[in-house]
Amino acid sequence: MNTSTLNILNAESLDYSSAAREIVSGVGDLQESDLSRSELLGSLEKVDVLIVRLRNQINREVIDAAPRLKIIITATTGLDHIDMSYAAEKGILVLSLKGEIDFLRSIPATAEHTWGLLLALIRHLPWAYQSVLLGQWDRDRFRGRDLAGRTLGIVGLGRIGEKIAHYGQAFGMNVIAYDPYRKDWISTVERISSLKELCQKSEIFTLHVPLNPETKNLIGAQEISWLSSEAVLINTARGAVLKEAALLEALQNRRLAGAALDVISDETQSNRLTTNSLIDYARSHQNLLLSPHIGGATIDSMHATEIFMANKLVQTVKSIPFDRRPEAKR
Ligand code: NAD
Repeated sequence: MNTSTLNILNAESLDYSSAAREIVSGVGDLQESDLSRSELLGSLEKVDVLIVRLRNQINREVIDAAPRLKIIITATTGLDHIDMSYAAEKGILVLSLKGEIDFLRSIPATAEHTWGLLLALIRHLPWAYQSVLLGQWDRDRFRGRDLAGRTLGIVGLGRIGEKIAHYGQAFGMNVIAYDPYRKDWISTVERISSLKELCQKSEIFTLHVPLNPETKNLIGAQEISWLSSEAVLINTARGAVLKEAALLEALQNRRLAGAALDVISDETQSNRLTTNSLIDYARSHQNLLLSPHIGGATIDSMHATEIFMANKLVQTVKSIPFDRRPEAKR
């Protein structure tokens, strides 16, 4: 393919790695902008390669607005923000971090954030900090719990789950995990063969599975009822892995000591701040900590993944004769 004709749009370019920019510019004409959804829809007509993060659902509406689109690039492992089957139907390649196991082992951001959320939750840090800002210095209201000696239960012992297991061990915890698909195992982690047993044994319960039809609503009222009322739940995977109504009810009724979430089910909806009942609950309660999907968002990890994806684009452009591929059905 004559790469000089490739129109590449980076639609979420804030803080994009300058090294990645240089690499991508070597294979086509790169335009960079931070676009709202409507701006994105209006900018796609001549785009061959689209670089996205997680701001928008890349669904039929977006794909149909991009008649020349050949490649979507997302520096993420989760792909639920992209309509993968429609992209395939249209002959569009999706380049992502999914399956890039060796590279991903070097990326710690989401695991580190998970641990930060856990510590903040069990030591009541956001609420203690707020109280100091309000002029209080109250040591009694914010008694936390130790991690050492407690049981950490991990659902999904993949790249992130494994890092979490190591952090747990460094903190002196007893680490157990449930992952029916993992073939090899880590000898220092106790393998649990059912989700029920994992729930029953976990004091800290943390989710690290991909979102797919099997894991959608994996954790609902029943699974939460298997957890101890002293347990806390952490989710930095995807919002829809958890039935949010069930979590809300458990928090309200003190069936669960607390939860910390980096992800919510409707996070790509523009009205989430007014419609999501967990956000509403967190405004007036001190057992739910929320962060706006910033798990992977460190400058270091983002730049490393952007450079990796830029090189993957170069390899793909070199290896696939786009000009000889049959035109996708439009
Ligand atoms: P991974 O693919 O390395 O690991 C996922 C693990 O889950 C695998 O070992 C798999 O066998 C296991 N699994 C699959 N289905 C399961 C099930 N039903 N029950 C138990 N285990 C199951 O993925 P990863 O890199 O560790 O990331 C996990 C998820 O974290 C991603 O899919 C993504 O959605 C999310 N994530 C979030 C952020 C963030 O910013 N919050 C950043 C990166 C990834």
